[in-house]
Amino acid sequence: MLNRNLLTETIEKFGIYVSDEAFLRLDKYAEMLIETNKSFNLTAITEPDDVTVKHFADCLSIFAFEEIPQGAKIIDVGTGAGFPGLVIKLYRPDINITFLDSTKKKLGFIESVLNETGMSGETVHLRAEEAAVLSKYRENFDYATARAVASLPVLSEYCLPFVKVGGKFISMKSAESNEELKEARGAIKLLGGEISNDNLFQLVENMPRRIVFIKKKSQTPTRYPRKTAQIAKKPLK
Ligand code: SAM
Repeated sequence: MLNRNLLTETIEKFGIYVSDEAFLRLDKYAEMLIETNKSFNLTAITEPDDVTVKHFADCLSIFAFEEIPQGAKIIDVGTGAGFPGLVIKLYRPDINITFLDSTKKKLGFIESVLNETGMSGETVHLRAEEAAVLSKYRENFDYATARAVASLPVLSEYCLPFVKVGGKFISMKSAESNEELKEARGAIKLLGGEISNDNLFQLVENMPRRIVFIKKKSQTPTRYPRKTAQIAKKPLK
């Protein structure tokens, strides 16, 4: 299903190499994604080369900018069909991933891919703002990741409460997110974070991407995250 040459070509310029074993796991995931997508909508991207670049190479590109330590704990917020969390897990099985989404059926799909590839991981069927107030999850992760979930001011309130002081929130954004980034600065500070790294790059020609790293400098005040309606009505500034 995945185009191996295209995957290699796209990510090796970032110094990322996929072993044969990891490729087999990623390929199994891609095959299950496309098969399941016939009966349950998981992705609008279905053409093999597009899946290879826009989902798999895109998610692997995180490793170009961060050396994630062995055994790190990551929560993937709004993981959907598993991006980027499941790609990270299948590439680096030593990393512990918690997959969080408010849609149960998508988590069911992730569980079948984990089973099929012999991997493990916790799935959490809650909204981020509900999970982040539980002591089991609050400030309990080295990283939170999110791709295509919400605007950065809202997403920061969802994600930063999960991250330990000293950890990072990794936000995968479109390249045209300057305004959003500016608007999020106040929110990030209120939540105990600080932008530590802002990477604009071309995944392939004419495919600009942005990965923003937000470092957790101090604990998030307990009044955050607020309730769903408040977050939506009045994003932090
Ligand atoms: N991250 C995946 C990707 O890049 O393909 C999925 C993106 S999809 C557009 C957004 C996902 O975020 C959906 O699966 C939705 O259920 C989930 N989501 C949105 N808001 C959420 C929240 N507050 N808590 C948990 N999940 C949320």
